[in-house]
Amino acid sequence: MRITVLAGGVGGAKYLRGVRQFATSAGRADEVTAVINTGDDVTMHGLRICPDLDSVMYTLGGVIDTERGWGRAGETWRIKESLADYGAEPTWFGLGDLDIATHLMRTQMLDSGYPLSDVTAALCQRWQPGVRLLPMTDQRCETHVVVELDGTRRAIHFQEWWVRYRAGIPAHSFVQVGLDSATAAPGVLEAITDADLVLIAPSNPVVSIGTILAVPGVRPALRGTAAPVIGLSPILSGAPVRGMADACLPVIGVEVSAEGVGRFYGARKDDGILDGWLIHQTDPADIPGVSVLSRNILMTDDDATAAMVAEAVELAGR
Ligand code: GDP
Ligand code: CA
Repeated sequence: MRITVLAGGVGGAKYLRGVRQFATSAGRADEVTAVINTGDDVTMHGLRICPDLDSVMYTLGGVIDTERGWGRAGETWRIKESLADYGAEPTWFGLGDLDIATHLMRTQMLDSGYPLSDVTAALCQRWQPGVRLLPMTDQRCETHVVVELDGTRRAIHFQEWWVRYRAGIPAHSFVQVGLDSATAAPGVLEAITDADLVLIAPSNPVVSIGTILAVPGVRPALRGTAAPVIGLSPILSGAPVRGMADACLPVIGVEVSAEGVGRFYGARKDDGILDGWLIHQTDPADIPGVSVLSRNILMTDDDATAAMVAEAVELAGR
């Protein structure tokens, strides 16, 4: 099978480990393509940083810091400290020494004129993720958050809201700067159209999956593909399993529940993107036009996650 997965960073990476395990399990040789959110991307200290692509690349490459959840294992922070000694802003973003090597490589290649999709493929030569990683777009489209700060309403970069303020200042809206005039990266629309199965990772529905869905052509491709589209809920018992996705959903008027997110994605039969929706066993969900399956959706290890993918495949066959 050709399996295409839409994913963000940490949750997406965990899910992709399970998809890869499923795809390479006994008797299978599935090809997996992952379309990754790049709306979190940012330039700092002259370096181009792609947090979600790097989380997925490091996780699948087996070098992620599993405790912290992001960045490289065995990381040191001497460059960050030295930058702080210079008084260089910003100081709130975690830039590890090993990680900076990745950003230097990426920035050099981008500056030489290579598109992000080529740069990503080149970086993956080193990490061998076992999955084809595609950025959703080669253009710079950065998510900004409209907030109330010091009595004035202004837009700040998503990373500033998320990392610096821990999503703690009220947000009015999200703006994906430049996304409406962007194009999907080479291979993205084909990966959806030509797939045998499309999976929506349990990534942030607003700033990870929502951003990918806003890339021109992606939603029509999902609605038009012959492949079943099956999602896994990131919300369990009314809260994200990890992270602060509950800070994003209310901003766009979506209830923080498996049902709320399922309805937000909607049925392909109507105007949405889903055929099937996997939710936690304790969560009720009624989503018109979507086959809902309840089971344990805690990605405790790769075996557990691969079992969820197997059930998604079964749901797709119904
Ligand atoms: P980010 O880009 O690093 O913020 O990460 P993602 O957008 O890819 O994923 C974040 C989401 O992963 C959160 O909303 C979590 O609820 C979800 N998540 C994390 N662990 C699990 C898990 O074990 N099961 C499920 N179903 N979702 C999870
Ligand atoms: Ca992210």
